[in-house]
Amino acid sequence: MPTNLLGLDSQGIEQLFAGLGEKPFRARQVLKWIHRRGAADFAAMTDIAKDLRAKLAAQAVIEPPAVVGDGTAADGTRKWLLKVDGANAVEAVFIPEDGRGTLCVSSQAGCTLDCEFCSTGKQGFNRNLTAAEIIGQLWIANQALGVHGHPGGVGAGNRVISNVVFMGMGEPMLNLDAVIPAARLMIDENGYGLSRRRVTVSTSGVVPGMDRLAAECPVALAVSLHAPGDALRDRLVPINRKYPIRELLAACNRYLDHAPRDFITFEYVMLDGVNDSDAQAKALLGIAARVRCKFNLIPFNPFPNSGMKRSSAERIRRFAEVLQRAGLTVTTRKTRGEGIDAACGQLAGEVADRTRRARSVPIVEVRA
Ligand code: SAH
Ligand code: SF4
Repeated sequence: MPTNLLGLDSQGIEQLFAGLGEKPFRARQVLKWIHRRGAADFAAMTDIAKDLRAKLAAQAVIEPPAVVGDGTAADGTRKWLLKVDGANAVEAVFIPEDGRGTLCVSSQAGCTLDCEFCSTGKQGFNRNLTAAEIIGQLWIANQALGVHGHPGGVGAGNRVISNVVFMGMGEPMLNLDAVIPAARLMIDENGYGLSRRRVTVSTSGVVPGMDRLAAECPVALAVSLHAPGDALRDRLVPINRKYPIRELLAACNRYLDHAPRDFITFEYVMLDGVNDSDAQAKALLGIAARVRCKFNLIPFNPFPNSGMKRSSAERIRRFAEVLQRAGLTVTTRKTRGEGIDAACGQLAGEVADRTRRARSVPIVEVRA
């Protein structure tokens, strides 16, 4: 099998080049061609010696996933369905906003964790994505948005995609072998050159993964809290039974030791009558007192047979007010991508479930 250079971070590609008897700076040149200019063909790399190009072509490829669906919502949100193998496809979503553009990437085909309110979780799990399949989502989005074709390509003051969030399908902390090289490429100056704080990994609270990410690539961290106490969180986010809130908060603080001046973003999905009362908001203040944090309230996005409802706009406003009165920074996520099922928690892709979970729950229709 030829090596797919797309998934190699600078260390990986330098190692490969060392094996070919080539200098590290040549490796960095190739990295720039791939990620800053979007080259998929060695022949295009005109400042690389012809014999090296031939050597590379003989044993390596630059292969992004194939785009099998591409849809844009009325608000400009765009979703790609990317085929990663014969049986599985994952989704990536671009969300344009004033002054910035965010790409939401997937890290797994499906998810093993089965949170009650999440469509990906209800679909079951097939496999981890490779680093090439993860960074390939950013590569493809840049290609599709015309950034690669732009003079200078990625960088050069050209920031169509200014932020990346690992909030698509899957639990990134259960696939760090691939997530870490992909995140490193995002912040590498020869790669996508994003600042560490503009790359956010979101986790449902896989504590050992949080410690590893802190040590190896401490980008911004979002934690899916969703409940103020263990009894409710055990039900909504089942991984809580393994890593309860006390341990989760300790891991957040260890993470912040590696990311000075940062804060944790606690994500909190607003579920009508489940976790949205004033008393529950007040109970969150106890958590907020223990970790440097902000809150991001996410109005629940329903999917077929979810059995739950979104809190009303007024309830969300009042919930936010309780937190704000206590001095916390609170944002409420705007629902984007309606009409193309591109909102948080609606990404379904096509997952050949190996957990048999999907059999008991009707699969969400995919419209791409
Ligand atoms: N597995 C990671 C990242 C992917 S989910 C995690 O759980 O954090 C990204 C965010 O979307 C999480 O905060 C998740 O709880 C939230 N989410 C999942 N389903 C949702 C839904 N139906 N409506 C709104 N947010 C949802
Ligand atoms: Fe997995 Fe995150 Fe969905 Fe939970 S919310 S099932 S961890 S993708």
